[in-house]
Amino acid sequence: MNLNLVSKIGPKTEKILNKINIFTVEDLLTYYPYRYNVIKFINIDEAKENETCYVLATVLSDVKVAYIKRNFNRLSFIASNNNKTFNITIFNRAFLKKNLTVNREVVLIGKYNPLKNSFVASDIKFNVEDERIEPIYHLTEGLKNSNVEAIMTEALKIKYDLPDYVPDMYNEKYNLISKNDAIKLIHEPKTINDIKKSELKLIYEELFVYMFKINYLKQINKKAEGIQKSFDMHLVEDFLNNLSFRLTTDQETAIKDILNDMQSKSRMNRLVLGDVGSGKTVVAIVAIFANYLSGYQSAFMAPTEILAKQHYESLQNYFAPYDIKIGLLTGSLTKKAKEKLYEQINNGEIDVVIGTHALLNEGAAFHNIGLVITDEQHRFGVNQRNLLQNKGIKKDADVIYLSATPIPRTYALTIYGDLDLSQIKTKPNTRKDIITKVVLEKNIREVLVAMLEELKKGHQIFVVSPLIEQNDELDLNSVNLLKEKLNTAFNERVPIEILHGKLKQKEKDGLMLRFQNGEIKILISTTVIEVGIDIPNASMMVIFNAERFGLATLHQLRGRVGRSDIQSYCYLVTNVSDNARLKVMEESNDGFYISEKDFEQRGQGDLFGVKQSGDMTFKIANLKRDYKILLQAKIDSEIYLAKSLFKGNSLYENLTEKINFLD
Ligand code: ADP
Ligand code: MG
Repeated sequence: MNLNLVSKIGPKTEKILNKINIFTVEDLLTYYPYRYNVIKFINIDEAKENETCYVLATVLSDVKVAYIKRNFNRLSFIASNNNKTFNITIFNRAFLKKNLTVNREVVLIGKYNPLKNSFVASDIKFNVEDERIEPIYHLTEGLKNSNVEAIMTEALKIKYDLPDYVPDMYNEKYNLISKNDAIKLIHEPKTINDIKKSELKLIYEELFVYMFKINYLKQINKKAEGIQKSFDMHLVEDFLNNLSFRLTTDQETAIKDILNDMQSKSRMNRLVLGDVGSGKTVVAIVAIFANYLSGYQSAFMAPTEILAKQHYESLQNYFAPYDIKIGLLTGSLTKKAKEKLYEQINNGEIDVVIGTHALLNEGAAFHNIGLVITDEQHRFGVNQRNLLQNKGIKKDADVIYLSATPIPRTYALTIYGDLDLSQIKTKPNTRKDIITKVVLEKNIREVLVAMLEELKKGHQIFVVSPLIEQNDELDLNSVNLLKEKLNTAFNERVPIEILHGKLKQKEKDGLMLRFQNGEIKILISTTVIEVGIDIPNASMMVIFNAERFGLATLHQLRGRVGRSDIQSYCYLVTNVSDNARLKVMEESNDGFYISEKDFEQRGQGDLFGVKQSGDMTFKIANLKRDYKILLQAKIDSEIYLAKSLFKGNSLYENLTEKINFLD
């Protein structure tokens, strides 16, 4: 349903909603609050010190405003509640003065100090509403919480009918309320119990759908016939013996798993789960080599062009002694070059093609594809799994996913239940742990001194500054400012450049190249560099506003350094003192340990790194908090599938179609 069906949504609001991925009424209704404020008015005598409360009060005095500094003012007045008179202070709300007229009733939100008889308000509301539960939504520029509430109220008036994916048998078994009721109550709960009921329904539904897809894929995969490949194991061994390093035990095991799968009759569907820097690429390369020896083409997909290029270069190195034709398919190719490459893929001239997902999905029809590898799988969701199979590629190609999300094994087995799992836990022992330090912004000098030390040694530095890509202008300014500051600090003598998502592909690649060959010494960047990139000479990672990133992301970012035997450093700059979360980064370099801590501290935390990472980020469920529900949903969906109860049900047909696997 179109958003303009909702009154109160004009073109301007629609644009803003689009920014937060709301395009339809359905998107809007499933934009859930992330928490609630329980608004319950109390008498001022009941107020506890240091506890936020809501007090209905009457303004008694004129309002005084003191302008203390630029952007800093204090508004104060006297009010009464329940025959008690007290002082109210609120900061930076000088504009409220005109509304605070004597005798007006207002709602004060804030904390009361009985000793001083003063109330420090964080907000004052003039709409004296009843006690209620206020839903709180994630917001974006130009969108206030009250706007979302108002829009939602209008949307709920529409005759909407959202599909209820929970089968009746489970709705009954768990006493779940209907989907439409749940949608209404999640946005407009009257009681805490309303929140609980609606959350339970929506969480169960979300996890049921997820596990349904996983189990469905698992079923299909089990049945899937593959190509039984044969290759000369001696040649593979020669290849391994010629590597410039010794494989770690876990790399060896993963390779063994993969080669076994290739030789077996059923189709391989394997996830190689290993921390950053655990050496997953070489595992993939051995698979490609064996696949080549068997006479089949391979496709290697990367999430970004930069990464695709890097893989291309390392494959060229690894395969230099062999007559293996490698193609690189990226957006920066000319139309002509692209067509030529497609043709070579099509007629079998190219043995291995590396490219971004988009391109490989677009036009490539393979001659005889035998292996598809997806790097950095954690950026994609279950709906994208095996997408390639459907696009003109035979369904029997073996599939490998590489993922750098080190999550506890039990979780991995459930949420990746459709895949076989190889874990790489050990890291190449040439690695030195990256020395990590959390530094308060006011002590930035310490970081600058350390940076200078590294530069003197001829090393290079990554600097990361969080930038919300949506709201570019403002934030680009802050990145530019950072560049200026660094230029000043280093007397303009050090080549510094900025890499961000808004640059054209060509520009990004150019910068990466200049960083790779050492021309640029400091690369300031947004999280564009998060995945995969390998710059052995970069020995320091400085992350500003580190508190804004989740642990998984910080760990991924830190993994960009320490990629050779030089000692590397990571500085996490923040203005939040005693940040327990960031301390975890100082304690450990082990992604599995960090993810355990992440789970402990913030539920699923940002387990899956970047927020937009496919459909692995749930709208309402939280993998840790709701783990029991997940396990139940797993069992339930298995039963439901096994009994084929979903067959002929258009709801589930849509689901299965979405994962590209209609049989
Ligand atoms: P990731 O798992 O993060 O993708 P890569 O495959 O990019 O890691 O490997 C990181 C670096 O470690 C590469 O430069 C690679 O050549 C090197 N490497 C991989 N395996 C080993 C090993 N067993 N011993 C030493 N170095 C290794
Ligand atoms: Mg990698």
